[in-house]
Amino acid sequence: MKLRAVVAMMEHETNTFSPVPTPLRRFGSPDVPRGPEVYRRFKATGTGIGGFLAVAEEAGMEIVTPIAGNAAPSGPVDANAYAVLCDAICEAIGEGCDVCFLDLHGAMVTETTDDGEGELLARIRQLAPELPIGVSLDLHANLTDEIVKNCTALVGYKTYPHIDMAEAGEHAGRIMVSALEGAVRPVMSCGNRPLLAQTLRMGHEDQPMGPLIEMARKEESAGLLAASIFGGFPLADCSNAGLSVVTVANGDQDVADSARERLLDAAWREREEFVFHSEPLTETIARAKALDRGPIILLDHADNAASGGTQDTVAVLKEVIRQGLEDVAMFGICDPEAVEEMARAGVGCRVALSLGGKVDMPSIGLRGEPIEISGRVRALTDGDFVVTAAMARGTVESMGQTAVLDTGKVQIVVCSRNSEPFDLGCFRSVGIEPTQKKFLILKSRIHYRAGFRAIARHELPCDGVGVTSSDNRLFEFKKVRRPIFPLDPDASA
Ligand SMILES: [Zn+2]
Repeated sequence: MKLRAVVAMMEHETNTFSPVPTPLRRFGSPDVPRGPEVYRRFKATGTGIGGFLAVAEEAGMEIVTPIAGNAAPSGPVDANAYAVLCDAICEAIGEGCDVCFLDLHGAMVTETTDDGEGELLARIRQLAPELPIGVSLDLHANLTDEIVKNCTALVGYKTYPHIDMAEAGEHAGRIMVSALEGAVRPVMSCGNRPLLAQTLRMGHEDQPMGPLIEMARKEESAGLLAASIFGGFPLADCSNAGLSVVTVANGDQDVADSARERLLDAAWREREEFVFHSEPLTETIARAKALDRGPIILLDHADNAASGGTQDTVAVLKEVIRQGLEDVAMFGICDPEAVEEMARAGVGCRVALSLGGKVDMPSIGLRGEPIEISGRVRALTDGDFVVTAAMARGTVESMGQTAVLDTGKVQIVVCSRNSEPFDLGCFRSVGIEPTQKKFLILKSRIHYRAGFRAIARHELPCDGVGVTSSDNRLFEFKKVRRPIFPLDPDASA
């Protein structure tokens, strides 16, 4: 008889400092996919759920796909949205299944809990105490004991940008298939160090994350079923925020525990390297201006849409215009009102806009500040394109109705839904060829590398304004466990 597998996704990275709300509609466009639509949308895509679907299919399982919700990072998830996602998953499990595969994030905070994933898994555990549960998590998970103790095997991404999401799903899926066959008995070990690492220092191609991930891979080659290092998500004021490790061994708890300690010790030794040091914006833009060949990437990382940024701050854009840079394309400002205005004017027409700055940021004491700008409407689209970069390949990115404002020197993509530029499609779908531009302002941190690193000659982090700033002094942490490095420089492991 076929084994019945419930395969679902519930993904949200919560920036507790973000003023951007997270209602249910943010989890899917036009609706949150359910039932067969989940399979249709995510089969063979570069996502955790894509990896799970491949493994379940290969194992000849009957696949049930209740729901797949994935919202761009923002503030705490609306209580109703969280309930809808969890209820759909639990209902499907309640109807009976032999295994469950969950594509989760690991840093979801809701209006009702600081541990969205842990609470969901605990509820499933109560519903089905013996059910084998395989989980894939984001590298930015803020891991909790609740998550680990209520699942069977857990695997995190080993890349940032996350170009191995499907591999992580497949990896966790294969461990579960082996466990169902009785070939392995997964035992897990999890732990952390008091380290609030910064995401700008978590790229897998860089120090210190690259060598640590390599070390995790070596532990796997040496016999562990899985070893995952989670950089954590520091823009989350909850007790468990920060760096952690989960290891999965075959039946031997000591093996899992000792590998976990080796990895955590190595990460702790590198703690200074997990701190980002910035430079004043005026200096960065001046440095960029002096470079002679592009594309030169200017990273507006303090307002990264995929970390909870409002995606409508304009400090970097203003400085680029003030210093007179030319041949610039920017992705992007999220400003549905401005898009409406441009749509009313029509392609080819001149408009004067008060662009961006629509959303206040009370957590960092700032009001939204727009830029007064005029130009020609270059393009209008529905904002959908199919991702071709390895990260989330094959999925549809929905920017909402989108327009391009062309000032002559700067072309600005203005969208209606939060979207981080990680795929060249964000420009190409609106008629801008990014390889031909000298400067590309990207509201991104590391994910841009999935699509843009291959075309970039230079990459410069720019200290703009926003709730994804890497300046810890801007944020008031009340709940994170203390002492924690670097908030407390003398914190000890
Ligand atoms: Zn992530």
